[in-house]
Amino acid sequence: MHVIDGHEELNQLIVALGERGMSSKSIEMVESYIRSCWDKGVDVVLNPEMTNSYGTYCPTTNTLTLGEKAISCDVEFIETLEHEFVHVLQDQLAGIHNADMHHLGIPTSQTANEIVSANYNVDDHTHQLEAEAFTIEEAIDNPMEGTELLF
Ligand SMILES: [Zn+2]
Repeated sequence: MHVIDGHEELNQLIVALGERGMSSKSIEMVESYIRSCWDKGVDVVLNPEMTNSYGTYCPTTNTLTLGEKAISCDVEFIETLEHEFVHVLQDQLAGIHNADMHHLGIPTSQTANEIVSANYNVDDHTHQLEAEAFTIEEAIDNPMEGTELLF
């Protein structure tokens, strides 16, 4: 498990992602997400030993973690960061220093709702939190369709 804490570590990550072929636009996105997490008081952790999910966000400890499947793939790296960052925003909306999360209130896509229904067995509140995260994650695949809104 590896906490990215500080300029030096972020630079190392950026160099490593560049060396393995991530595009400079994607690397810029990674950097801005991580810096935005820091601005909000959220830790970003790379945990190759976490193999059961792409990523997690814990609203209690304010920790965003990327797992092995996200770390090892450029596309998943960004999509997972994007997804978990939505949970950061949901946490921020409810007050970052508690375990609560609020819906952003964005319209969620049918695909996102289908993904959540198929993969999560959760209450309506959590379903909506996940549907928002998958809606944004999905939008990043189509940069023409308004994904700039989070920047
Ligand atoms: Zn999620």
